[in-house]
Amino acid sequence: MSTAAPTEKKPSRNEELKTAIPTLAGNIAATLADSSAACFSADDEQFLKFHGIYQQDDRDLRKTGKLYIWMIRGRIPGGVLSAKQWIAMDDLATQRANNTLRVTTRQSIQFHGVVKDRLGPLMKEINQAMVDTLAACGDVNRNVMASPAPAISVARQQVFEDSKLVSEKLLPQTKAYHSIWVDGVQLNLDSAENKDFVDPLYGKTYLPRKFKTAFVIPPVNDVDLFTNCLGFVAIIENDQVVGYNLTAGGGMGRSHGNTITYPRLADVVGYFPRHRLVDVAKAVLTVHRDFGDRTDRKHARLKYVLQEKGVEWFRAEVEARIGAKLEDAKPVRFITTSDTYGWQKGMDGKWFLTLFVSSGRIKDTETVLQKTALRRVAERFDSVEFRLSANQNVLLCNVSDAEKDGITALLHEHGVKTEKQAGILHLAAMSCPSMPTCGLGLAESERFLPSLLDRIQALTAEVGIGDQEIIIRMTGCPNGCARPYMAEIGFVGKGPGRYQVWLGGNENGTRLNKVWKEMMKDTEIETELRPLLLRYKSERLDGERFGDWVERVFWKDQPPVTTAS
Ligand code: SF4
Repeated sequence: MSTAAPTEKKPSRNEELKTAIPTLAGNIAATLADSSAACFSADDEQFLKFHGIYQQDDRDLRKTGKLYIWMIRGRIPGGVLSAKQWIAMDDLATQRANNTLRVTTRQSIQFHGVVKDRLGPLMKEINQAMVDTLAACGDVNRNVMASPAPAISVARQQVFEDSKLVSEKLLPQTKAYHSIWVDGVQLNLDSAENKDFVDPLYGKTYLPRKFKTAFVIPPVNDVDLFTNCLGFVAIIENDQVVGYNLTAGGGMGRSHGNTITYPRLADVVGYFPRHRLVDVAKAVLTVHRDFGDRTDRKHARLKYVLQEKGVEWFRAEVEARIGAKLEDAKPVRFITTSDTYGWQKGMDGKWFLTLFVSSGRIKDTETVLQKTALRRVAERFDSVEFRLSANQNVLLCNVSDAEKDGITALLHEHGVKTEKQAGILHLAAMSCPSMPTCGLGLAESERFLPSLLDRIQALTAEVGIGDQEIIIRMTGCPNGCARPYMAEIGFVGKGPGRYQVWLGGNENGTRLNKVWKEMMKDTEIETELRPLLLRYKSERLDGERFGDWVERVFWKDQPPVTTAS
C-alpha cells in the first residue's frame, strides 16, 4: 500500500476545525441551551453537518431580516421505515417543522423550517423513533442507498441488510452526537479524552469531503449508481446475492466557473464475493481519507482521485487494503433509472404500491391530502413498510391481498391517485429544494419545476410528442443534489430566473449530459426548446429517446459548450 503524498498547500479551514475538535461536538450543546443565541457560530455550523443538521435562514424574508431555521436530514439506510416510524416522522414534521416531509434524492427524509427551540426536541424524538441523523451530512459516509424495488425477494432483502451493515460499519464513533441530542450535555472539549479522540476508521480529521454509497440490483438502476463515490452492483444467483461489482469515483457536484470541478461517472473496478463487503467498503473509504484533496474542498471528492490517479492505481490500492485480488467485474445490464408507478406484486405474493411525490415534497394541498393519507395508511395498516426511492417517491410495501383495496380506497378518499398519478414529464422529473431554505441556491428549483413541466408538457403536445417521456431535472445551484447532469434535459441555477441547460443524459443512468446553453432565462425556455424538439421529432429513429437523439445527432451539428462556466 502506498502512502498519501505530502501536499504543500495549506489544509482548508474545515481541516483545522476537525483537528481542533475531533469529537465534532463544537459548542453546539451550549448554544442550544442558550436561549439568547439566535444561531450557532460559523464553526459550529460545520460541526452541525456531521449531526445531520444544516443551519439556514428563510431567504424569502431576507429583505426584512434574518430568520434562522434548520434543516434536519435522517439517516435511513435503504430508505426503509416501519409504519410506526412513519407516524413518528409525520408527527415531527407537523409539530416541529414546516408540516411537510421532504423525500430526498438519497432515500432519506428532510425536515425543513425548524426553529431553534424545536431543534433539540426534534432531534431527541427522531432518535426515540429509532431513526437517527448521525453522519447524514458532513465529511463522512452519508445515507447508504439501496434499490427499493423489486419490493420483495430474498436477494432484495439481502441487499437491504448489506446496505444497513455498511451504513453501521462506516459510522463515526464520536460520542458527541448522543451526548448533545439524547443526553443534552456539552462535552468538555478540554478533557484529554475528547481533545485526543481519534476515530478508529476516520482518524482525527475524518474525510476530506462527503462520501456517498449505493447498492443497486440490476437491471433497474433506480439509485443512479454511477453518481456515487462507492457503488455495489448485486450479483445474484438463484435469488441469493453471491457478490458485488465494485464501482467508485462518481459524483455530481461542481462549481460554476471552476473547471477543476466537474460531474463524473463512477468507474467499474472489479468483482468481489459477498463476504468481503465491509472490507471493500472500508478500503474505498480510506483511499478517499488518505488521498483526497484536503486543501480545496471543491476538489476534495473521491472522483478526482480516480480521475487523476486512474482506475488501475485505485484497484491496486483497494486490493492492498483488503489483502485480496478483485476479480473482473461480472457482466450486468441496466435498463432504466425510473420507478414503476402503481401497484405491483412482489415475488413473495405481497403487493407494493409506488406513489408519485411531486418534487419529493409530501404535503397536504386543498385538493390532495398526501401527507394525511400516508399517515392514515400507517395508522390503519401497521404491517405496511414505507420505502423512500431515490427518485423522491414513496413505496408502500408488504401489502396483503386483503389490505390492497382498503389502502387504495383510503388514498383515493384523500385525493391521492394510484394510477395515472401525474403527467409523463412530471413522473420522470426531480428537483432539489433550493429556495427558500438552501443557502446555496442561486435560482428557484422545487417551487418552479412543476409549473415549468406543465409548460414543457404543453410544448411537447404542440410539437406532436406529448406522449414522449423526457427526463428533466432541476437544481438551484451546480452542486447537483437532484443529479441534473444525468438528465435528458438538466437545468442548473445560475442566478434568479436563469439556468445553465445540459442535454443528452440517458434512460439507464450511464451517460453524463453536456452543456447546451450557458444561460437561459426562465421566460425563454419554450422559445429555446421548440426548434430542438421539432428537430427531434423529425429526426428520431423508431423509439429513440430525446437524450439518445441529442447524443447521436444534435452534438454533431452543434458541439456542446466544452468549458462550462
Ligand atoms: Fe441547495 Fe444546490 Fe443542493 Fe439545490 S443543488 S439543494 S441549491 S445545494
